[in-house]
Amino acid sequence: MPIRWRLTLFIALVIGAILILLGLTLYFLSRSALLGDIKDTARSRAHAVARIVESGDGLDDVNDEGGFVFDGTFVIVRGPDGEVLRKVRVPAGAETGAVWQRALDTGEDALGTAEISGDTYFVYAVPVGPPEDPARVVVAGKSYEPAEESLGVFGTVLAAGIGAALLLSIVGAYFLAGAALKPVEAVSRAAEDMGEDDLSKRLPVANAGDEIGRLTIAINGLLSRLEAAFARREEALERQRRFAADASHELRTPLTSISGHARMLDEWAIEEDPERTKRSVGAIRRETGRMRNLIEALLALARGDEGSGLEVESHDLGAVAKEAARAARAAANGKVSVEYLSPERGIEAVFDRELVLRAASILLDNAVKYTQEGGSVVIGLREEDGRAMLDVSDTGVGISEGQLPLIFERFHRADPSRTDGGAGLGLSIARQIAESHGGEIRAKSIPGEGSTFTLILPRRPSS
Ligand code: ADP
Repeated sequence: MPIRWRLTLFIALVIGAILILLGLTLYFLSRSALLGDIKDTARSRAHAVARIVESGDGLDDVNDEGGFVFDGTFVIVRGPDGEVLRKVRVPAGAETGAVWQRALDTGEDALGTAEISGDTYFVYAVPVGPPEDPARVVVAGKSYEPAEESLGVFGTVLAAGIGAALLLSIVGAYFLAGAALKPVEAVSRAAEDMGEDDLSKRLPVANAGDEIGRLTIAINGLLSRLEAAFARREEALERQRRFAADASHELRTPLTSISGHARMLDEWAIEEDPERTKRSVGAIRRETGRMRNLIEALLALARGDEGSGLEVESHDLGAVAKEAARAARAAANGKVSVEYLSPERGIEAVFDRELVLRAASILLDNAVKYTQEGGSVVIGLREEDGRAMLDVSDTGVGISEGQLPLIFERFHRADPSRTDGGAGLGLSIARQIAESHGGEIRAKSIPGEGSTFTLILPRRPSS
C-alpha cells in the first residue's frame, strides 16, 4: 500500500477512535444526567406529597390549581391496605407494580420501574407514618420517554457529527499526506528521468531544512561523487586507449623496418650484395634492440601501474648516484663530461635501490642524450625539509616553457627530431618510480642553456 494511503488510514483510525470514544462518553454522561434528573424529580415530588400527607393538610391542594408543581410526574396515595386514596395525573392503565407494597412493608422509601402503555416509568414510593407501621404510602412516577427521545435525537446528531468529522479528517489526511509527499514524487520523477549519461543532473530540493530535503541533498552529493568517479574512470580509460594506440604505433615502426630488411635480404641482397647484407643485419639488430628497450619500458610502466610491491631498505643515495654516474659516463664515451658531486655527508634514505638507480639513470641518460658534444652533466645530492634530493643538471639544449609540463606524459617527446630513437617513456617511468616512493620529480630548464631534473624522495616512504 502506498505511504500516502497508509498515512491516511493511520490518521483516520486514530481520529476515528478518539471521536468515537469522545462521542460515547458524551452520550452516556448526558444519558445519566437526563435519567438522574427524572429520578430526582419523581423522588422530590413523592417526598413533597408525603410531607403534605404527614402534615394532615389534606390532599385537596395537590393539583395544578393548588400550585403544586408536578413537573411531569403522576402521584398516587394509598392507604395501609393498598387502597388508592388519591390519584393525580395518573395515565390510563397505570400499574405501578409492587413498589408501594415494599415501602409499606419496610417503612422505607422504595423505587423501581413500571411499564405503562408501552412507556417505561421511574416509580418512587415514600411511606408516611411511623416506620414500623406506616399508615399511607405516596407513589410518584415519571416517564423516561421524553428523555429517551431527546437522547435518541442527541445520539443521531452525535453519530452524524462523528461520521462527518471522520470523513473530513480522512479527506484532510489524504491531502495533507499528499502535500507532505509531493517532494518525494518530484524527486522520484526527476530520478526516473535521469538517464545513464545524465549524472550531471541534480534532484530538486524543495526545502533544504526538512527530512526529504536533507535526503535529496545527500543523494545529490552522492551523484556528484559518482560523476567525479565516472569522469576519472573515463579519463583513465582514455589514457589507457591512447597508451595502447601509441605503444602499438611505436612497436610497428621497428617491425616495419625489420620486415623490409628481411624481405630485401630474402629477395636478393643475401646472395648478390654482401655489403648491403651486412648493413641490413646491423639495422635489424638495432631495431630489435629498440623493440626490446621499448617492451622493457612498457613492462616497467605496467608493473608500476599494477602497484607491484617495492623492495625498500635503507640505502646510501650517494652510492646509487655514483653508480648511475659511472654508467652514464661510460655510455657518454667522452662526448660529454659526467661528474658526480659527492655531498658533505652521506644521505641515507629508505627506497627500492634497483628502481631508484633506474630513475637516476634515466635522468642521466637524457642529460647526456640532449647535451651537445663538449657539454657537461652533473649529478649532485642534497637534503631539504627532511627529504633527499637528487639533482641532474646539464648544459644541453633545454626544454621550452610550453613543453615542460608535458615531458612526463607517456610517449611525449618535446622535439621528435632530436630524440635519438627514444620512445618518450623514460621520464614517465622515472616519475612513476618517484611517486611510488611518495616522492616526485621536478624539472626546470632554460632553452639553449640547459636543464635540471630533481628526483625528490622522502627519507622514509609514507606507507
Ligand atoms: P625520450 O625517450 O624521448 O628521451 P623521455 O620521457 O625520457 O623520452 O623524455 C621526454 C622528452 O623530454 C624527450 O623527448 C626530450 O624532448 C625531453 N627531455 C628529457 N630530458 C631532457 C634534457 N635533459 N634536456 C632536454 N630535453 C629533455
